[in-house]
Amino acid sequence: MDDSTRRRFLKDVSLGAAAFSASAQGAQKDQMPGRPPSGDTQAQASLPASVMAFAAHPGDAFFAMGLAVARQVQLGAQGVFLSLSLGERGSARIAPAQYGPLQRQAAESAAHALGASAEFLAYADGEIPVSEEAKFAVCDLIRQYRPGIIVTHWRGSWHKDHEACYQIVNDALFYAGLPALDRKQAAHEVGRIFFADNWEDANSFVPDVYLDITSVFERWQQACAIFPMWRGENGFRYNDYYGSLAVTRGCLSGCKYAVALMSPPEQRTRRVKAL
Ligand SMILES: [Zn+2]
Repeated sequence: MDDSTRRRFLKDVSLGAAAFSASAQGAQKDQMPGRPPSGDTQAQASLPASVMAFAAHPGDAFFAMGLAVARQVQLGAQGVFLSLSLGERGSARIAPAQYGPLQRQAAESAAHALGASAEFLAYADGEIPVSEEAKFAVCDLIRQYRPGIIVTHWRGSWHKDHEACYQIVNDALFYAGLPALDRKQAAHEVGRIFFADNWEDANSFVPDVYLDITSVFERWQQACAIFPMWRGENGFRYNDYYGSLAVTRGCLSGCKYAVALMSPPEQRTRRVKAL
């Protein structure tokens, strides 16, 4: 194992992991500035890691990433939902000018119901730009909230906004952790990244972490129900899909309800003393 390239190793990526540990609260001293994060084998403290969900649209933030955020908040951590767009073009019945504010309102109410907060960058739905401006905007939010964990879209998506979000967040993480990059806030290395289990991002999605979210499942369902689209009004039955998915992932990981998450390759390596 090459320390110069691996730097840190993940300890608890096993099935049924109950919660994300505080090892993700900040960067380790030996992590190179601006490099992608990885796990940690040494500092497993008792504090839960704060978490930010970066999504293309509010629905993705709450339906696909909300359970992971809700669980960390339940454990006492800070949780933030960031939507790059309001998803204002998602309704066939309501005009974008009206639907956008409704989406914002629903996201704020849902975040409140989960004990988290909601942020928006409000790029045009369907036109989220993979621009330096967007990357620096996300970088600044990472530096402001200083999360231990980020949950975001996997790149294997057929939705251009989701793929854009993946690319924006990936580069924003690099910018956020680079001390020599002068912004308003000081640099911040995010401890771990996880990609969410999203029906639109299923291409080559291979989960390796199963999080037991049984204790927040009902609260999460109630929060999601604030969005009219949760019940299938826009053509996809989100409630049935994500509710059933939590059951399925729970079956696979030995608990009632779970969410499955995917780690980037550098987080998957584990250092063990024996097999
Ligand atoms: Zn979306």
